[in-house]
Amino acid sequence: MKVPFLDLKAQLAPIKEEVKAAINEVIDNTAFAGGPFVERFEKEFAAFCGSKYAVGVGNGTDAIWLALLALGVGEADEVITAPSTFIATAEAISFAGADPVFIDIDPDTCNMDPVKLECAITPRTRAIIPVHLFGQPADMDPILAIAKKHNIPVLEDACQAHGSLYKGKKAGTMGIAGCFSFYPGKNLGAFGEAGAVVTDDEELAQKIKVLRDHGQPQKYHHDVIGWNGRMDGIQGAVLSVKLKYLDKWNEARRSNAKKYDRLLAGVSQVRLPVEKDYARHVYHLYALRDPKRNALMTFLGEKGVATGIHYPVPLHMTKAYEYLNLKPGSFPVAERAASEFVSLPMFPELTDDQISYVAACVKEFHLK
Ligand SMILES: *Cc1c(COP(=O)(O)O)cnc(C)c1O
Repeated sequence: MKVPFLDLKAQLAPIKEEVKAAINEVIDNTAFAGGPFVERFEKEFAAFCGSKYAVGVGNGTDAIWLALLALGVGEADEVITAPSTFIATAEAISFAGADPVFIDIDPDTCNMDPVKLECAITPRTRAIIPVHLFGQPADMDPILAIAKKHNIPVLEDACQAHGSLYKGKKAGTMGIAGCFSFYPGKNLGAFGEAGAVVTDDEELAQKIKVLRDHGQPQKYHHDVIGWNGRMDGIQGAVLSVKLKYLDKWNEARRSNAKKYDRLLAGVSQVRLPVEKDYARHVYHLYALRDPKRNALMTFLGEKGVATGIHYPVPLHMTKAYEYLNLKPGSFPVAERAASEFVSLPMFPELTDDQISYVAACVKEFHLK
């Protein structure tokens, strides 16, 4: 049996006509860059999150970068984040002119370990970015408490966590702002690139709106040096259609994850993802940990099961961040996790047969 890692065609099939009609409406209105379809999606996504404002931007990396700029982060500043994330989190910090400061992760959740946070704070720290990795929120209460004590804003990287909850609160709404990506493979994916920042802070929302549009609060009134970071009209229209299905899709991901959990519970060689009591995990990824990861991936590949590694190199060990001079051994939990991660196929439309087959192959590898 062939099991793909992700099946966007299966997601699209039942809503294709609805999405095509939405795209045709944008074409009929020639509202391609920003405009009414983006504004409508911004209102809907803010309502979904329970935030006052959502600002649509070009992608998730722009969302983090523009939010940092709007917070005033720049040259000679430090921003604390985790090394176990997609590089975009750190790139946004770097492109704001600041240096990323990494802290190790919690071995259960692979999210920022709040215990490591306080001693990483310096007089240069200007923001803290917890990443809600794989779709499970970081442990926000201790992070927010430490941040508050030091008067440092918390910006959430919720690019993998659309609709996930921490103690009943939506990911992206607990810090000063939350950043989302609508890259096609995310839980809520556009038909191209898109992202958004959600916040309750009117001034911050306004700053991001100005920054994403060449620094102009009104046409040709360039008050600050901004950028072109607008969302496309077509993406706004597509996302409005798909947002209606997000809760259903997240439920399906959760149910698929529980099936994997049950089927793999007896395989002592693999460490399964942990859903914390405080969390509603939305399983953007179902990431196992297995010391024999490379051999397992080869075996699964031969059986027709596609897998991925998220992420193979912790950011402090990438060539890009060599300049930070953080040697191997700096973040042992993150380094070990990176050597063991293997993500199994995960998408809402996975069938029971596919899940059973994948789990049986994992078992076969370890019992053979
Ligand atoms: C996808 C992702 C981003 C970047 O989003 P893009 O839309 O690809 O720019 C940032 N952080 C995390 C954790 C992500 O998964």
